[in-house]
Amino acid sequence: MPVLRSAFIALSRNRTLRRFCEHSKVGTRFSSRFVAGTEILDALSVVESVNRQGMAVTLDSLGESVTSEVEAHRAAETYHQLLDTIQARKLNANISVKLTQMGLELSPKLAEKIAASLAQHAKTTGNFVRIDMEDSKLTQVTLDIVRRLNARPETRGAIGVVIQAYLYRSQADVEQLLADGIRIRLCKGAYKEPAEVAFPRKSQVDENFVLLSKLLLESDVYNGIATHDAAMVAAAKAYAREHEITPERFEFQMLYGVRRDLQRALIKEGYRVRVYVPFGHEWYPYFMRRLAERPANVLFLMKNFFRA
Ligand SMILES: Cc1cc2nc3c(=O)[nH]c(=O)nc-3n(C[C@H](O)[C@H](O)[C@H](O)COP(=O)(O)OP(=O)(O)OC[C@H]3O[C@@H](n4cnc5c(N)ncnc54)[C@H](O)[C@@H]3O)c2cc1C
Repeated sequence: MPVLRSAFIALSRNRTLRRFCEHSKVGTRFSSRFVAGTEILDALSVVESVNRQGMAVTLDSLGESVTSEVEAHRAAETYHQLLDTIQARKLNANISVKLTQMGLELSPKLAEKIAASLAQHAKTTGNFVRIDMEDSKLTQVTLDIVRRLNARPETRGAIGVVIQAYLYRSQADVEQLLADGIRIRLCKGAYKEPAEVAFPRKSQVDENFVLLSKLLLESDVYNGIATHDAAMVAAAKAYAREHEITPERFEFQMLYGVRRDLQRALIKEGYRVRVYVPFGHEWYPYFMRRLAERPANVLFLMKNFFRA
């Protein structure tokens, strides 16, 4: 793993720097390239604008690893509010939730209960909850929770999960989830993982990503291919064309502020695109992971910062 990527991932866990950045005006201004703002209203105006461009949204109320049950319930409340607002305003959006924000590290039972209430709410409003995937210590417990909830009639079909192509285990997980009819978002993976669990080289991750995308595209389940990598997008498009998989059977997903040109080009070609829109005060770890993916973004942000 390149040194800069590791350095940014290490910085993403630095509490002092996090406190400083999240409370400084300069920090918030820097983060605005990738984060829709701090308040729900900021996020909603981005959803409306993205929807107007023909793209769907998934909303992420930023936050992870809460340290009390009260915090977990407060975070869940924001998501319940979002589900109601999406319905009331008829927005084309669903929600993306991290189980550590719902208290997973305090008590898996608590996180499951909260995820169940969100999925139930989503089901009654015709919506959907995507459970984001975090680091590999949490993969099994996350998949177990999603599978249990999808097995219950009151939440079936309203909950899906994320698979990371860098993990060796992912092919087996994809096969199992698709057999259960669970919707998958496939991404490469954003955390720092040891070689015991994850492919160390980008070329191996890319190869696995292409292989897993084919499994997703072939299935009858509505899945998401989440990447900004033009080569991954091209491989998925080519496979879909060759196998007569029509564009409404799957969607591409990209992060807010990343490769907007590619997002627009896909829409023009008739593909479905969903943009992942994060918002909230706790933007620091998310933002640092984005810099880790592409350290050149630091220069890009600096240039724009001083130009503005
Ligand atoms: C919708 C969505 C949801 C995600 N959810 C999760 C999740 O739940 N769990 C998880 O671990 N990870 C998640 N990720 C992050 C993902 O794992 C990768 O870390 C991230 O998408 C970068 O990988 P890539 O496929 O874009 O390809 P890379 O190989 O990282 O990049 C390929 C090319 O894409 C462009 N690019 C990539 N990243 C950036 C960037 N930040 N800024 C500008 N250009 C960029 C560059 O041109 C780069 O050369 C998600 C990603 C997306 C798009």
